[in-house]
Order: sequence, then structure tokens, then C-alpha cells
Amino acid sequence: MEMNDNISNFGQMERTSRPQEMLQRTAHPQRNEQPVQQMMQQQQQQQAGGKKCPFCGAINEPEAMFCAQCGQPISKMTCPHCGAEIDPDADFCEVCHHYIRQDVCSFCGAHLSGNEAYCPECGSPKGGLVCPTCHSLNDFAFCKKCGTALTEEAKLMVKQLQKNPDYQQLLEIVQDFSKLENALPYSSERDIAREQNCQKLRERVLTLLAQDEGVDFPVIPKVESNRMTKEELEEQKAIKVKMLSAILDKLAVPPSASPVKARNYAMACKPTGVRLAWVCNYKHAMHSSPCGCAKPHLGGKWVVLGKNSTAEIKDDK
Ligand SMILES: [Zn+2]
Ligand SMILES: [Zn+2]
Ligand SMILES: [Zn+2]
Ligand SMILES: [Zn+2]
Ligand SMILES: [Zn+2]
Repeated sequence: MEMNDNISNFGQMERTSRPQEMLQRTAHPQRNEQPVQQMMQQQQQQQAGGKKCPFCGAINEPEAMFCAQCGQPISKMTCPHCGAEIDPDADFCEVCHHYIRQDVCSFCGAHLSGNEAYCPECGSPKGGLVCPTCHSLNDFAFCKKCGTALTEEAKLMVKQLQKNPDYQQLLEIVQDFSKLENALPYSSERDIAREQNCQKLRERVLTLLAQDEGVDFPVIPKVESNRMTKEELEEQKAIKVKMLSAILDKLAVPPSASPVKARNYAMACKPTGVRLAWVCNYKHAMHSSPCGCAKPHLGGKWVVLGKNSTAEIKDDK
């Protein structure tokens, strides 16, 4: 209805602004009618059972799972474990936390016929792999709990990443950051006095040792104190968090075709020693890792969580 109204309004506007053309049109009325008829046909098609894409508006075949125009999922499947509605491009149910694809290996992404107990490509058992580090059972190539690489492919990915300069820098920053997190700040005047006394003692001992060797006035290099006040520590930590976030942005998972590969890449990038959460492009949800996300292939990235962060994590446990 609305579409038809718009079209007739549009016609009026043209008629008033361009009278010469109007004369031509009245001479050939069928030319003007054609687009209107086409649109009405399209609307009828839609009513007859075609599926309208909620993303781009294109009309698709009634049984289409994905939009032929823009590729977005336009049908729902049901989870074989809990019956929840799931998009056809999801491989994991966020309601009951099960991997749901029978035809794709959850560890390597290889195609499966559905009956094999072990993946012919990577050899992983369909029932899952037990993490040798923390003993939790996993459906994916990296342990969702502790991040250990569980398959050969996963181990290789970590090895390759270690040659990536961005990843190397990430590890360095994480190391600095966790040092800061574990550092104790100067808490009192007494702390400062105690450290100064230590310095003096050190200088005295080194001077005596040097004099034993025959040097009368040795130059003793000062040791710079790396202890900071609470405020200085917080400031330094904030700087490191900024650097961390920048590098994690660089290592963000780009959209890709395979949820399994995207999940593996994201897990391989995760450093230990700092609290992180994974934010997906699918629902912009905070996951403890991409192992809890139904569509990691839409991309996402790791974000830093402070020590006392109360940010809500949509967990996969
Ligand atoms: Zn579409
Ligand atoms: Zn489910
Ligand atoms: Zn496999
Ligand atoms: Zn583990
Ligand atoms: Zn997600």
C-alpha cells in the first residue's frame, strides 16, 4: 500500500514539474504503468510464500537458508541438544553450550560425513579432547579453560604466531603489565627509609671490596629503585593497558568463512598472564573466550579486563 502511494505521489510531482513529458506519457500510458505492475507482482510473490530478507529486503525462495542478495542467514535451525533456535551459520549453541555441526570437524573445520568417530583430517575424536594441563573436556582445538593448544594444527598456529612481530610485542607488554600487577607499591615512609639503608650498605660493601683490590676511590654505580608509589603504579598500568588494547585491536579476528578457523586463530592469539575477555562482532557479547560464541567467523577481538573488573561475561560453562 505504502509503496503504491509513494509511486503515485512521485508521478504527480513529475507531472507538475515537467508538463512536456507529461504529454508524451499520456500518449504512451503503458510505459508509465510497467514499473508499478512489476512492484505489485513482487509484493504478490512475497505474499505467496517468498521469504523477505530482514537485512536487505530482497525476496528469496521460501526454503532459502541464506539471502541470495546479501548472504545473511534468513532461516532458523533448532539445536539438536536443547531445541533452541539457531541461525544456520552458527556452529555452537549458546543456550546449552554444545557444538552442533555433525558435518564439520570442530577441531580443524574439515568436512565430515557424520558417522566417523575420529576426524579423518586431524584425527581428533568427536567426543572431545581432554586438556593435559587442566583436564577439562574440549570440543575445540584450544582448551577453553586454560588456552593450551590441543591439536597439532593448534600447536603449529602458536608457533607461527610467535614469529609475528605484533604478537611478540603483545607478549612483551603482557609481561611488563603482569610485573606491574604483582608489584607492591611503597606503602610508608618506613619502606623508603629501609630501601635507602639497603642502598648505603651496598655502596659500603662494594667500596670495601674495591679497596681490597687496591682502588682507593671506586665509582659505585647507583641502582635505580623500581619501586613506585600506588599512584605511579596505577598510572604505569593504565599506559600498559592502552598499549595492550592497541595491539589486541591489530590482532583482531577478521570476518572469515569458517567459524572453526576463526575460533582457532583467536585462541592462538590469546596470551596468558592477563585477564582478557573476547568480544564478538555477532552480538557484541563478552565471552570468556571465542569457545563460547556461536559465530566467531563474524570476527571479534580480545579486550583487557582489570583485576577487579565486574564486566559481565557471557560464559560458556
Ligand atoms: Zn539480504
Ligand atoms: Zn542447545
Ligand atoms: Zn578435524
Ligand atoms: Zn586446559
Ligand atoms: Zn559471540
